[in-house]
Amino acid sequence: MATTEEKKPRTNRLGLTIQEYKGAKSTLCGGCGHDVITNAVTRAFYEMGVQPEKVAKLSGIGCSSKTPTYFMSSAHGFNGVHGRMPALATGAAVANRDLTVIGVSGDGDTASIGMGQFVHLLRRNVPMIYLVENNGVYGLTKGQFSATADIGSKLKTGVVNDLPPVDLCGLAIELGASFVARSFSGDVKQLISILKAAIAHRGTALVDVISPCVTFNNHPGSTKSYDYTKEHDQPVHQIEFVPFFQHPEVDQEPGQVREVPLYDGSVVRFRPVEADYDPRDRIGAVRHLKLSADRGEIPTGILFLDENRPDFVELLGLCKTPLAELAAEKLRPSPAALDGINRSLMR
Ligand code: SF4
Repeated sequence: MATTEEKKPRTNRLGLTIQEYKGAKSTLCGGCGHDVITNAVTRAFYEMGVQPEKVAKLSGIGCSSKTPTYFMSSAHGFNGVHGRMPALATGAAVANRDLTVIGVSGDGDTASIGMGQFVHLLRRNVPMIYLVENNGVYGLTKGQFSATADIGSKLKTGVVNDLPPVDLCGLAIELGASFVARSFSGDVKQLISILKAAIAHRGTALVDVISPCVTFNNHPGSTKSYDYTKEHDQPVHQIEFVPFFQHPEVDQEPGQVREVPLYDGSVVRFRPVEADYDPRDRIGAVRHLKLSADRGEIPTGILFLDENRPDFVELLGLCKTPLAELAAEKLRPSPAALDGINRSLMR
């Protein structure tokens, strides 16, 4: 017979159960990779002990953009128009630096209609987690190729894609993003470690997750299927994440492992799989992505990390207090300050 103690549900450091990090029931197709990502996001926020009411979850349009509904019901949420999630996320992050901001997008939402907003968010290093659920097709409109589809990949109908793909990770690294990762919804352990590190990072954390569309793009000929991604997945390292509220055990093989401290005091340890892969080498990361693409491999892990780059809110010199909590007299410039501005414009 179970004791009273055994019946108590597990809780995190805030005393909350995982149930308090869940959202509405998913309406996506059974087996969709996006639902696996939803579960990983739920677990990462629960294990990090982030207060759900201190999270803003934002999205655009597409199957992926429905997923914020399926986690953290008590977080702030806004489902915007197609490709415009970055503007919403920037506004939320700038107006209230107490929030952890997560934007969920898809390959269509980001790599086509949202590209203009995406690239400027990256170069600003807006403090947020930018999650792309990448399946190479527009699932919501019956499976046309998106801009991340690989050249030569096939639709179920036999149509072949003859355009080269946009590599979102390569683009992000080149544009100055401070945290760039790729993962796969078939590798939940890796994905949860990456998401926890992304929560601990301050700056834009781009997490591009290959997330197979089981209805339109999970067949032989697809390069975004479960089978293809499993066969071609090449992790560049194993990731061990130690949150700030846990003491790291001493590593047994210190010479082998790169240890990087993150903004909130957490530590991420990289145990190499690719012998000389250094996640802090921007040029090396871009080179590795290009060479891997030529070999038909999909490198996964935290591909690039610059924990020292200032984020957009710091660059703007904004105060720590959320703008909504500032008194009117602090928000409005004084008459003297306005006079000064007017005089400077008349010169
Ligand atoms: Fe997922 Fe594809 Fe179904 Fe959309 S159409 S919910 S991406 S399986």
